[in-house]
Amino acid sequence: MSASRRLLARLRAMMAAGSARLPDIVALVAGELVAEVCSAYGLRSGEILELRATHGLNPAAVGRTRLRVGEGIVGLVAATGQVLNLADAQNHPAFAYRPETGEEPYSSMLAVPVRRAGRTLGVLTVQNRASRRYADDEVEVLETVAMLLTDSLTAAGDEVAEKGFFGTVQRHFEAASLSAGIALGPAVLHGARRTPKRLLAEDPGVEQGRLEAALSTMRKDLETLIDAQLPDGDAPRDVMDATRQVAADAGWLRRVTEAVRGGLSAEAAVHRVASDVRGRMRRIMDPYLRERLADLEDLADRLLAALDPGAAPPADVAGAILIARRLGPAQLLDWAGRGVAGVAIEEGSAGGHAAILARALGLPVVGGAIGAVEAATNGDEVVLDGEEGALILRPEAGVRDAYQRAAESRAQRAAGWARLRDTPCETRDGTKFRLMMNAGLPQELAQLDSTGAAGIGLFRTEIAMMARGAVPDVAEQAGIYGRVLDAAGGRPVLFRTLDLGSDKLLPDHAAAREENPAMGWRSLRVGLDRPAVLRRQLRALLLAAGGRPLSVMFPMVATLGEFRQAKGLLLAEAGRVRPAPEVLSVGTMLEVPALLWQLPGLMAECDFISIGSNDLVQFIFAADRGTPALAERYDLVSAPMLGLLEQVSRAAQVSGVPLSVCGEAASRPLDAAVLLALGISTLSMSGGSVLAVKEALCALDLASFRPFLASLRQSAAAYGSLRDPIAAWARDHGMPG
Ligand code: PEP
Ligand code: MG
Repeated sequence: MSASRRLLARLRAMMAAGSARLPDIVALVAGELVAEVCSAYGLRSGEILELRATHGLNPAAVGRTRLRVGEGIVGLVAATGQVLNLADAQNHPAFAYRPETGEEPYSSMLAVPVRRAGRTLGVLTVQNRASRRYADDEVEVLETVAMLLTDSLTAAGDEVAEKGFFGTVQRHFEAASLSAGIALGPAVLHGARRTPKRLLAEDPGVEQGRLEAALSTMRKDLETLIDAQLPDGDAPRDVMDATRQVAADAGWLRRVTEAVRGGLSAEAAVHRVASDVRGRMRRIMDPYLRERLADLEDLADRLLAALDPGAAPPADVAGAILIARRLGPAQLLDWAGRGVAGVAIEEGSAGGHAAILARALGLPVVGGAIGAVEAATNGDEVVLDGEEGALILRPEAGVRDAYQRAAESRAQRAAGWARLRDTPCETRDGTKFRLMMNAGLPQELAQLDSTGAAGIGLFRTEIAMMARGAVPDVAEQAGIYGRVLDAAGGRPVLFRTLDLGSDKLLPDHAAAREENPAMGWRSLRVGLDRPAVLRRQLRALLLAAGGRPLSVMFPMVATLGEFRQAKGLLLAEAGRVRPAPEVLSVGTMLEVPALLWQLPGLMAECDFISIGSNDLVQFIFAADRGTPALAERYDLVSAPMLGLLEQVSRAAQVSGVPLSVCGEAASRPLDAAVLLALGISTLSMSGGSVLAVKEALCALDLASFRPFLASLRQSAAAYGSLRDPIAAWARDHGMPG
């Protein structure tokens, strides 16, 4: 019998006999690991670790020896959550000598954190006189025992220790504002892991059987997912094969099996291996390996779900603040549909589609609050500040009240915007502009009337598909598009054909991965290679129009040839559908830089152009729009981008082709002012931004802003962001930001 299994078997026997007291446990561990000392420290109020039980140190030190979190080796392990395995502990820089313990003779020390649901509750140590590094299997045994100790360490009834120190105090996370607004509510964690209820197994054979059954369920589910999503011969099948291989990977499964043989329940074994994976993942920089480990983590989650199918996430999340590590647009829609009031995404950035959708739905969002998922528990009180960019867990009363007041005053300001609805779109010095809104969901259409937008400058057709989880048939699609045209009531709607791929995947497709999905087989590329889906969509649009004017544009066009091909498909369908639209306008998105060198040909053949600044900026600067670390690095409001936009604006004016911007830049008042100064006077933005942008542009004196901008663009610093000086100018000239 392995040391681990023997130890766990004895522990189980002690628990069954009701004699698993902390002093007995540390004595047992010391004996099994042939250590002279084994001690357990528990957390108590005031960020203090207290020696709760020891075998080998002076018994009189129990209850007396105390260390602050961060102090000494024990404190360091509690603060970092990392294991320390030291051959010469006394010469470690963090070592803190406590004479009452009598620990002078012991050189080596192994200290592991006692954690539950990501929180440190205490530290378990073993010590030996001889200088030695503890072997991996010894570390594993101690970590396994630490997992079992959470209850014993918290049994003291100390309220703070019960939740873990970090689980009780206010935590403030700096974050980036991805969507404005302030929300207060209880936390709900996306993909929150459940701590296994049963840790020890009575019969390893039975557990092994449960594990195998769960594995087979998980593999079957995966196969169904793959088959449903990817018909035979589809290129992404290869990608899924990689996932399948990970699912069958002997390495991690062996470790889970070993842990089960060692005496853990199947859930506890998966949980242990998964937290190891997570720990290693944090230290790995290589993106490819990180992805593979992320696959493993995903599979571990599936396996846990298969082992405990009954444990569903909380049912009522209305008014809650969602906290996620990563979040795809389909997942965001799912949560939004369940009524969350705000979203924090650790690895989220403003250009990511989850953030774009959240803005469209008026949900405040922050990104980059790294560590928030780990630090929060479902139900914790949360303040989400999408104005300044912050996430505050368990706010103190004063902080919470201040935010409550700020949220109320924001609501009043928004109510003030409503009076702008019917005022003409004209700058202070009389230049006219046109504001349209972006949409993709039926819930957004009401904003057309409430904002007075001139129409829909971008209808993202893929969003409704993502909300449904599939591309519906022609009749159903026609129904959706028809309702959009009805809501627009004669105002123009620029329908964009399916822009799936990159981060916009149908839910079941989430496991398919490309090396560079943003530059991969996505969007119109798929449409042209597999024209059946695109043709069906074009037919549905024509049917929906039923003779009314129709505008269709294509995303991710990279060559004039692609535009011609796509337009050809549309015209062919238009030749078949009756009644034909009164006017059929065919346009293109300008998102791929290559189009900049094909403008004359393009302008001769298209009826309108809409600049997708999100993708265009990402490709111009070669900077992934979804990477938070790059979010502040490149700016549309910079000399290179402004030069480029001005060139497109001039070309459009010369050829008489209507030009608009429908990327997120248009939603920001300052960027909108700059675009207007460059001669781009039609802007399409999320519905929630229309009136704020209108307020700013109506207050703008373009005649004095233009020369200021021109001189700024000549300045030496122009190649970086011009945002700060423009914001200062706007403040000085009474333009609200
Ligand atoms: C864009 O790229 O700017 C755009 C509007 O398209 P999406 O954000 O849907 O990629
Ligand atoms: Mg785009």
